[in-house]
Amino acid sequence: MGLQCEACSNSINVTHKRIKCTSCALLYHSECVNFDDTSSLSRNQWKCPSCLIKQRKVGDNSKTPVRSSKPQGSITQPSINVCNPSEISDLLPHLEQLLDKKLKTIKEEIVAEIKSSLLK
Ligand SMILES: [Zn+2]
Ligand SMILES: [Zn+2]
Repeated sequence: MGLQCEACSNSINVTHKRIKCTSCALLYHSECVNFDDTSSLSRNQWKCPSCLIKQRKVGDNSKTPVRSSKPQGSITQPSINVCNPSEISDLLPHLEQLLDKKLKTIKEEIVAEIKSSLLK
């Protein structure tokens, strides 16, 4: 019953330097996750790449803005006309913001994916 590295799926021998994730308690070869074994401080706080990704996603979700309230203005007329051009121009910045956030999230995911595949 040997220990197994979650990154390379090879066994971890006593001679191997290993690092344990403080979050999911899985073991990794130090070299598989580029862990600097000389610093004992970070060892107690180290989290594996997949836990870091999960953590970041949770943080993002908590920051997701609730649908913003209507922009201030003296528009008193009821918006019966759905295709009101002024309404669309009011929505545009909001849509841009949403799109920006989406793209950023996707970008972060891709970067994380590349990083984790490089570590394997
Ligand atoms: Zn490994
Ligand atoms: Zn982990």
